[in-house]
Amino acid sequence: MVCPACQSPNVIPDVEIVDHSHISEFSLSVKVLAEPNAMIFTGRVNSELRARVCGNCGHTTLHAVDHKALWQAHQKAEGLTT
Ligand SMILES: [Zn+2]
Repeated sequence: MVCPACQSPNVIPDVEIVDHSHISEFSLSVKVLAEPNAMIFTGRVNSELRARVCGNCGHTTLHAVDHKALWQAHQKAEGLTT
């Protein structure tokens, strides 16, 4: 794995992204609703975000841990699956 910005191999592969805006710390996450128009059962799927951070230039990319579950929820929301 090399940095896409500077081609350095000094990439930290799996960094927790911490939200300090609350009293305690929370890991940053994303959510997708499989049923976005539902009142209660929205089919909410959460996934923690992790970062890859370049130790040379600081270039950072994000990826969702449960990307497959997010994609399935998105496809359901779009009516592509049942
Ligand atoms: Zn870099």
